[in-house]
Amino acid sequence: RFITLDGIDGAGKSTHLAAMRQWFAQRNLPVLFTREPGGTPVGEALRALLLNPATQANLRTETLLMFAARQQHLDDIIRPALAAGTHVVSDRFTDATFAYQGGGRGLPLADIAALEQWVQQGLQPDLTLLLDIPLAVSLQRIESHRSKDRFEQENADFFNRTRAAYLQRAAAAPARYAVIDSNQDKAIVSAEIDAALQRLFEP
Ligand code: C5P
Repeated sequence: RFITLDGIDGAGKSTHLAAMRQWFAQRNLPVLFTREPGGTPVGEALRALLLNPATQANLRTETLLMFAARQQHLDDIIRPALAAGTHVVSDRFTDATFAYQGGGRGLPLADIAALEQWVQQGLQPDLTLLLDIPLAVSLQRIESHRSKDRFEQENADFFNRTRAAYLQRAAAAPARYAVIDSNQDKAIVSAEIDAALQRLFEP
């Protein structure tokens, strides 16, 4: 199975990825945890370029670089793992491109959908866990980061549009998404993630 975890900055992905590792370990399920942009040497180099406030790629270039990293990630890591029967959990995937480059920055969603088709050739996650938090909570959590990456320097309007784009995608294909209110006690969020995994693996 291919599972992705997504959400706006500060939604709590890192915390819950750790809990998800435990979920797989407890069941002895073979799993590979990876992230986007990144996941391969090419992808990590592109990530460094994308997040560096000093290299201001324009929006179309930025989007192509996200998909370039994703192509390498799919070819070298995700598809081979799935073919070998290893489950894959990716910290962000194409929903982030629809949300950040589409909703946040305003690239037409149809352009992103065309690249999605070209790169993924129909491959989609089996489950996307969308951690949702109110804008104020996101901004508060980002504020505590000492050195902000390029995207964390964006303003409230940007994150509002990004969040709305995530929720819109989830609403359009509810079978693939579990939208989780991440503005609750960590243990409750974790239990809701576990329940979504349970439904996927043991329906
Ligand atoms: O997931 P992580 O927080 O490590 O992502 C690094 C940064 O890249 C974040 O600020 C995130 O918002 C941004 N990003 C982006 N567009 C994507 C994926 C990530 O702006 N498609």
